[in-house]
Parts: sequence; C-alpha cells; structure tokens
Amino acid sequence: MTAPVTVDTLDALLAQTQCTRCGFAGCRPYAEAIASGAAEINQCPPGGTETLLALAGLTGREPLPLNGDHGLEAAPSVAFIDEARCIGCTRCLPPCPVDAIVGAPRLMHTVVAELCTGCALCIAPCPVDCIVMMPLLASTAHAALTLPPPAEGSAEVARRVAAARQVQADRYNGHGPRTNAEADGELLDSVATPDDPGRKLLADAAAAMRLSARGFHRVMRVARTIADLAGSEGVGRIHVAEALSYRRQAPRN
Ligand code: SF4
Ligand code: SF4
Ligand code: SF4
Repeated sequence: MTAPVTVDTLDALLAQTQCTRCGFAGCRPYAEAIASGAAEINQCPPGGTETLLALAGLTGREPLPLNGDHGLEAAPSVAFIDEARCIGCTRCLPPCPVDAIVGAPRLMHTVVAELCTGCALCIAPCPVDCIVMMPLLASTAHAALTLPPPAEGSAEVARRVAAARQVQADRYNGHGPRTNAEADGELLDSVATPDDPGRKLLADAAAAMRLSARGFHRVMRVARTIADLAGSEGVGRIHVAEALSYRRQAPRN
C-alpha cells in the first residue's frame, strides 16, 4: 500500500536540521511548499540524494539532481564552540532553532550535541569565529552519544526538551536563575552535584583534563541538563561522562 502524500509524510522524509537552506523557514514549511506544488523536491542539501529519491518515490515526481543553489550535500555535522575563544556575547543563541546552545551572558557557551541538528545557523553571528562544524559520524561512539534513539522522532525530542525546560523553570522558581546554564555557587552545588560515582568521575576528569573551576562548573551544568533531558532527578555518572565527552570532542587549536 502506498503512503498518502501529506505534509506530515513529506516532513518525515526531510533531514530536520531546520537549516533553512531549502529557502524556507524550516523543514515543515518546505514540506508544505512541496505538497502545494510551490517547490521542487531537490532543495534539501542535508538530506542529499537519499532524501531526494525518497521524496521522488513518495510524490511520483522526477528525481532531479540536487539543486546546487541551495548548497552541497555533506555529511551530518554537529557544532562545537572553542571555549577558550568564546566571549559569551550570546549572539549564537537566537539563531539556534532547537536551543542547543547553553551559557550565560559574558560566560563561555557550549553546544549540547544531543540537541544540535547541524544546521550551522550559529556560525555566522559569532564575532570571534569560535564555532566550527564537526562531522557527526566521525566515530560510532560519538554517534551513539549524540543521535537520538531511532524510535525517537522530532516530536518526541521536542517533548523531551520542553519537559526539561519545565523542570528547570520549577527548580529555579524564586531563586534567580531560570536555567541550569545560569545557576552558580551553592545553588549549583545543591542541584547539580552528581552521585558518588559521578563525583569520582568528575574529580578524576578534572585532574586529568586540568579543568579550571570554571570548566568544572560548566561540566556540572551540562551534566545537569543532560540528566534533565533524560528525565533523571539526580545527576549520575553517565550524565557526567556525556558532559565530559563534549569537552573531549571539541576541536583543539
Ligand atoms: S534544507 Fe534544511 S530546513 Fe530545508 S528541509 Fe532540508 S534540513 Fe529542513
Ligand atoms: S548549535 Fe548551531 S548548528 Fe547546532 S542546532 Fe544550534 S544553530 Fe544549529
Ligand atoms: S557567538 Fe561566539 S563568542 Fe558569542 S557566545 Fe556564541 S560562541 Fe561565544
């Protein structure tokens, strides 16, 4: 049986980076334009030939070559911020379609790789060029850490992110900060101190990686956010390990 051609089915075939390279404000607007006949099916570089052929199969349209005006097909990638150069200006935050960048004004920022779609919209606004895109599938370990489980679609990810945001809003209600990224001092210690195995890992990593106090607290904040995304009340070793992995995978100059 052939699947009906709906905006939902078209949207499901698109790469979901929300990069706007197709000339539309995101994947769903592009799906709507394909459905209405206002756009060709060859305008999604992140999806590449695979997506193009899938769209051709679904719509019965001619599989035209990828339109180079919208960019070249490239391997999936993820953004990394060079912390040493980040000046904390926050200009990279508004363009990010999925709130994958965490940080506070005048403090260094980081990318939660689990959320990053690889859209690259954060690159241009950075005044010090400290954001780079790294191939997502450089290692299977990285892929396992950063890709959502196959059964989890964009709607589920969005629900998980919204739930994590709500948890943070409830946690900090009346305390000043609004998010983990803004928490500091005793408040950060009280909400983000990992369990015993997590504390040991963090202490060992701090020594091995020569983490500054700033870097140490940043790992705690990111681990807290990762735990929130996982729906975990406490911060465990696995959350600390993932937070540390984002540091290890960042490019070094
Ligand atoms: S080009 Fe980007 S925004 Fe447009 S459909 Fe593809 S992934 Fe989505
Ligand atoms: S961090 Fe950058 S590349 Fe990743 S989703 Fe946000 S804007 Fe796109
Ligand atoms: S735009 Fe660049 S310098 Fe400014 S906060 Fe983002 S990564 Fe840091």
